[in-house]
Amino acid sequence: MAQIEFQQVGKRYANGHVALDNLDLRIRDKEFLVLLGPSGCGKSTTLNMIAGLEEVTQGSLRFDDTEVNGLPAHQRDVAMVFQSYALYPNKTVYDNIAFGLRMRKHPRQEVDTRVRAAAESLEITHLLDRRPGQLSGGQRQRVALGRAMVRQPAVFLMDEPLSNLDAALRVSMRAHIKALHQSMQTTFVYVTHDQAEALTLADRIVVMRQGVVQQIGTPDDIYERPANKFVANFLGSPPINLIDGLLMQGDNGLHFRCGDFSLALDRDVQRSLAGCSGRAVSIGIRAEDIDEHGDATDCALTGDIASLLPVGSDQFIGMQCAGRSMFFRVDKERACKVGERVTLAVNRRRLHIFDQTSGVNLKAHNA
Ligand code: ADP
Repeated sequence: MAQIEFQQVGKRYANGHVALDNLDLRIRDKEFLVLLGPSGCGKSTTLNMIAGLEEVTQGSLRFDDTEVNGLPAHQRDVAMVFQSYALYPNKTVYDNIAFGLRMRKHPRQEVDTRVRAAAESLEITHLLDRRPGQLSGGQRQRVALGRAMVRQPAVFLMDEPLSNLDAALRVSMRAHIKALHQSMQTTFVYVTHDQAEALTLADRIVVMRQGVVQQIGTPDDIYERPANKFVANFLGSPPINLIDGLLMQGDNGLHFRCGDFSLALDRDVQRSLAGCSGRAVSIGIRAEDIDEHGDATDCALTGDIASLLPVGSDQFIGMQCAGRSMFFRVDKERACKVGERVTLAVNRRRLHIFDQTSGVNLKAHNA
C-alpha cells in the first residue's frame, strides 16, 4: 500500500538549475502513473526523488502521509528498473533475479518460489541458467523486471525501461508491463518520452515541460482535451495540425480566418468562446478529425496532395493548406495520387482552439 504525494516539491541542482518547479501531485495507491515529456524536462529527477536517489530541495514528499524527504533509499519500499538493464554479467538469470532477496536474507525456499513465479509470469523460465550476455535486449529487460518484481515493493519505478528495444519488442513489452501492474496490484510510476507508450500504459499521465507540469489527466483527457498547445503537439502521430489566425465575428457567427482560409465554428464551440472575437489563436486539427465524405460547405480544407504516408492500418496524406504542410487521414481503400486536388471536411466539434500567445486551450478554459 503506497500513496505518494508531492506537496510543492522543487528540485534545484547544485549548479542552480531548477529541474522541477513546485510540483503538487498525489499518486494514488495502485495507480499506474506515467511522467511524460521531452528529454530534459525533469522526469528522471522526479522519479529519482521518489526512489531517494535525489534530494528534495523544496517542499514535502510523502509516502502514505509520512514525509520521506530525509529517508535513505534503502529504507524506502521501492524497486526501480532502468533503461540500461543493470544486470550482473557474471551471474545467471536466476542469480540476478534472486540477488536482492538473498541480500535481504530471505529463506532459500522463499527465494526459489518467488524467482520461479516471476520467471514464469515473464515467460523466461527457460532462460534461468543463462548469463545476460546470452540474452536478447527484450529478454534482459524482462530479467530486470523480474529482479524488481520479486522484491514485492510497495512502489515500482521505471525509467524509460523500453527505450533500448526495437519497435516491435517495445509493443509486446508494453503488454507485459501492463499485465505486471495488474498482477502486482502496486503503485507504478513510469518515465517515458514516448507518447504512445504513455497513452497505452497509464491510468493517468503527467505531461511535463522544463520542470513545470503542463497537465495531469487520464490518457483520454490529455489527448481529447489538451490543456495547451504544447500538450496537443506532444501527443498524437502524425502531430496535430496547427494553424495560426484570428477569430472573427461574421454573419454566421464566430469563425476562424487565416488569409483566404476560413472555417465556421460549431455552435457549441462558439458558445464556449463568447467574447473572443478578434483574438489571435491557433487552431488544432488532428489527422483523424477530417473526413472526405463529410459536409464541407463551411468547413472545407482544399489543397494538393504533397505526400502519401500509408502506415498499414491507416493512410495519411501530406497536403499544403493555408500556406503550410498538414497531415490528414483518408480512407485506406482510396487510391491517392501526389498532385491530386482534394477537399476535406473538418469535424468542427473536435477542433482545438488555443490562445496564440499563451497556448492555453480556450475551449477547455472557457467551458
Ligand atoms: P528527463 O528525465 O526529463 O530527461 P532529467 O530529470 O534527467 O530530465 O533532467 C532535468 C534537467 O536537469 C535537465 O536540464 C538536466 O540537464 C538537469 N540535470 C540533471 N541532473 C543534473 C545534475 N546532477 N546537475 C545539474 N543539472 C542536472
